[in-house]
Parts: sequence; structure tokens; C-alpha cells
Amino acid sequence: MKAVPFDYIRARDAVHAVESLAAADGFAKILAGGQSLGPMLNLRLAEPDLLVDVRTCPDLRGCNDDGESILYGAAVTHAEIEDGVVPDPCHGWLAGAARRIAYRAVRNRGTIGGSIAHADPAADWLVVLLLLGAEVLVLGHDGTRTATLAEFITGPFSTTLDAGEVLVAIRVARRSKGVRYGYRKTATKVGEFASAFCVAMEDPERGESRAVLGAIERPPIAIDDLSVVSDRTGAEAFVNSHVAGLDAPTVRLHAVTLLRAVRDIETAVPSA
Ligand code: FAD
Repeated sequence: MKAVPFDYIRARDAVHAVESLAAADGFAKILAGGQSLGPMLNLRLAEPDLLVDVRTCPDLRGCNDDGESILYGAAVTHAEIEDGVVPDPCHGWLAGAARRIAYRAVRNRGTIGGSIAHADPAADWLVVLLLLGAEVLVLGHDGTRTATLAEFITGPFSTTLDAGEVLVAIRVARRSKGVRYGYRKTATKVGEFASAFCVAMEDPERGESRAVLGAIERPPIAIDDLSVVSDRTGAEAFVNSHVAGLDAPTVRLHAVTLLRAVRDIETAVPSA
């Protein structure tokens, strides 16, 4: 199948993108890396009248380090994070997470903002950035609004993003050097979306410990009290009580992934 015919605008900047969405005659969509939207167009799961391309907008390609946090422009690519072209507030851990998304050709074009706006429940950035308590900045006709990523994601493939809004940036707080992480992603083949995915973190200086369970048919779940998932019985009970309709092997897969990520924290070497 081929995409339906559509008009195309290359936005000059985020404001131009918002104006283009507002002026569209029909259904308009933002295009970033096209790594999720491209297949949807070809399968006619999306039939837009207009695509507004934000991939080269300078204000969405930038990155600002204010010492406390990094503000990533929404069109920063997975590969730029992987390669350290932009700063890493997690002392290299974010680069490692980027490296495990799909394969290099996807990472060269796919963007952090596109991944979040698409809100695939198995997407790596959703799980990783929820763990880090990230915030999003959204531009619409009424100006800019800020939300935590947890507020922004409302369901599988569902966010609070209005049809006339553009996701402009993602803020990630700088972690202390004593932070330790756990990361477990299970996929049937290298480069595929996760079938089970859990990340965990303990940052003593900031007084934070958390795990996030993803790759479930609902938004990822944050777990602030890690003691409830510190053994297999607890992890299975947690998965059973938070994710409906899973068969026993799938519950076990998620529970073991969760348990291993949490235990990884104990053996992880602090980042500095
Ligand atoms: P696009 O495809 O351009 O857009 C996706 C959606 O977001 C569209 O609805 C678009 O309108 C909207 N959008 C994009 N940017 C904005 C914005 N700034 N403001 C508002 N709306 C916006 N991802 C993983 O996390 N893990 C994987 O293992 C993985 N494997 C993959 C394997 C393959 C073969 C492919 C093709 C993709 C895979 N992906 C994976 C998805 C990939 O990470 C995409 O890059 C990502 O989901 C979407 O980013 P994009 O920039 O390509 O967005």
C-alpha cells in the first residue's frame, strides 16, 4: 500500500509549525524522523492532508544545559544522544539507553520528541524518561505549557497533545554522581521493540529511588517503593495487580525483568 497524497511544509521553527497546523485545510500532522509515522502512512493508518516537517527546525534541534538539567529539543535524534553530541545528565547512562533503541538507521532519524509524542507503550524513551522524572514543553496557540511526562502520557499511543500543538522540548534533571541504575530490556530479536522492559534507579544524594515497568498495554508504571518488588512473589503480585489480562508466562516475564532491574541497582557501580 502507498500513503494517501498529502501536502508538505518544512517548518522554519516551532512557531511556524504551530501556525501551519492552525492554517491547515483538513487533517494535519507533525512529521519528525518519520520512523513511526512513515509506516503508518504507508499502511494508511494515518491519512493526513498535510505534513508539517519539524526535523530541521533549529529551535527543536538545540540543547541547553543550565547546570541543573538538560533541555533537549524535540528533534534531537536517538543517535545524537547515543554519540554524546548532546550532553548526558546521567553520566553516560542515557547514551547507553539510546544505543539499545532499534538499530542505527532508525536511531539516525528517529527523534526523542517523536518517540514521546507517539507514546508507544513499549518505546524506550517513555520508560527511561519516566524513571528520570522528565518534563515536556509544548507550544500551542496560547503559548507554552509544561507538564511532567507522567501527566503528558494518558494511555497507549495517547497523550495530552492537542492537534494544534507541537512538542518542543524535554527537560531531564542532572543526576548526582553516586546514582546507580538497573536496566533490563527483553526483545525477541536485537533491534526490536521490548516484550518486557524495566529500568530502576537509586540516587542517594537526591533521595530518589524508583523503578518503571514498561512494554505493557498501558502507560509505563512507576514504582516508588522498591521493597514491594524485591522478591519474585512481590514482583509477580505487583504485575498481576497492575496489568490486567496477562497469562501466567507473561506475568512471569515482566516480573523477572522487574526483579532483575531492581537487583541490578545493588551490583551497579556508581557512575563516578
Ligand atoms: P515520527 O515517526 O515522525 O512521528 C511519530 C508521531 O509523533 C506522529 O504522530 C507525529 O505526528 C508525532 N510527532 C513527532 N514529533 C512531534 C513533535 N515534535 N510534536 C508533536 N508531535 C510530534 N522505538 C523504540 O523506542 N524502541 C525500539 O526498539 C524501536 N524499534 C523500532 C524498529 C523499527 C524498525 C522502526 C521503524 C522504529 C522503531 N522504533 C523503536 C521507533 C523509533 O524510535 C521512532 O523514532 C519513534 O517512535 C518516533 O520518532 P520519529 O522522530 O521518527 O517520529
